[in-house]
Amino acid sequence: LVARMRPFGTTIFAEMSALAVRTGAVNLGQGFPDTDGPPEMLAAAAEALRGGQNQYPPGPGIPALRAAVAAHQHRFWGLEYDPDDEVVITAGATEAIAASILALCEPGDEVVCFEPYYDSYAASIALAGAVRRPVTLRPDADGRYAFDPAALRAAFGPRTRLVLLNSPHNPTGKVFTREELTLVAELCREHDAYAVTDEVYEHLVFADAATPHVPLATLPGMRERTLRISSAGKTFSCTGWKVGWVSGPASLVSAALRVKQFLTYVNGAPLQPAVAVALALPDAYFAEFSAGMQARRDQLVAGLTDAGFGVLTPEGTYFVTVDIGPLGGRDGVEFCRSLPARCGVVAVPTQVFYDDVEAGRRLVRFAFCKRPEVLAEAVTRLRSLT
Ligand code: PMP
Ligand code: GLN
Repeated sequence: LVARMRPFGTTIFAEMSALAVRTGAVNLGQGFPDTDGPPEMLAAAAEALRGGQNQYPPGPGIPALRAAVAAHQHRFWGLEYDPDDEVVITAGATEAIAASILALCEPGDEVVCFEPYYDSYAASIALAGAVRRPVTLRPDADGRYAFDPAALRAAFGPRTRLVLLNSPHNPTGKVFTREELTLVAELCREHDAYAVTDEVYEHLVFADAATPHVPLATLPGMRERTLRISSAGKTFSCTGWKVGWVSGPASLVSAALRVKQFLTYVNGAPLQPAVAVALALPDAYFAEFSAGMQARRDQLVAGLTDAGFGVLTPEGTYFVTVDIGPLGGRDGVEFCRSLPARCGVVAVPTQVFYDDVEAGRRLVRFAFCKRPEVLAEAVTRLRSLT
């Protein structure tokens, strides 16, 4: 194995899901829903499969899906992208992130990102031979994750090539405010840096959040320097389909496509028309999806609080993080490895998403994209810890 990949072992998601299968524990670790997405989408996929859409689709994706991606971004965020040359379909957001970084970073270039970061970020940056410059998110006195603006400013320098921004943010559930994004945008402009935005949870911002979701590309001077990424996996509860997309100015999107050609070439032929159907669903689908998830958040947050954890209530995504300190836990990895044996539940230690491991030492993430009875069972088990 090449040196740049040696620090990366088995992903925590694979480790913890395998542990759940082995022990029969309730799996609130890896984030995947336990119900299917919209029936219209599933029917369209079945029809495409039976209808012979089973060969290579066009390199940038089928025209109907590119048009649907563009229309969706215009409908919800007022962003305009030309489906012909400003949208490319990818094998999930994961490939879009990798292709964007590989397309934009020379070896030695620096990538600013907020930690804890989604685990593929560090690996994609390493594959490009680039260097990550993490800025740490820490819970403030009100239990909201925040960063020190001076630390963000200090992370930018002459080698900064891009900032990789995930909002709503996994694993913290933080939704970046317009004020925070304004500083990110200012620094990008000042340093002539690109932005790659991972917005896979764009439709999971809860009604009581302090801020709505603001795509960074909507801020002044940002559209022309931003590759905006999302995916069907979260919004339409089909994480196994791996259909994602990247949008941006044609020059940047064509750079990402150049790389994507040699990562997977194309993907998901019969799934692409189905995702196009899903993206065109009425506003009510998206509102109900978010409201339904908010009810599950409330259920799990109440249960975890009852069980004695220090709960950091999320404003978005389908994850909640907790401090295990009040339960006597000192290390999240140890805690999560022993949790199935202690009470039959699987969670994910978020310290593995930090370079500054101490900052996340006692933090653990639970996923709530599960049926209410599954969450109730998990809570019953977790309450037996005290
Ligand atoms: N980014 C974030 C923040 C995620 O949580 C996920 C889902 N695990 C991804 C990217 C990957 O998305 P996809 O499954 O579409 O590749
Ligand atoms: N995005 C999901 C999570 O954060 C799944 C990630 C994965 O399995 N690669 O749990």
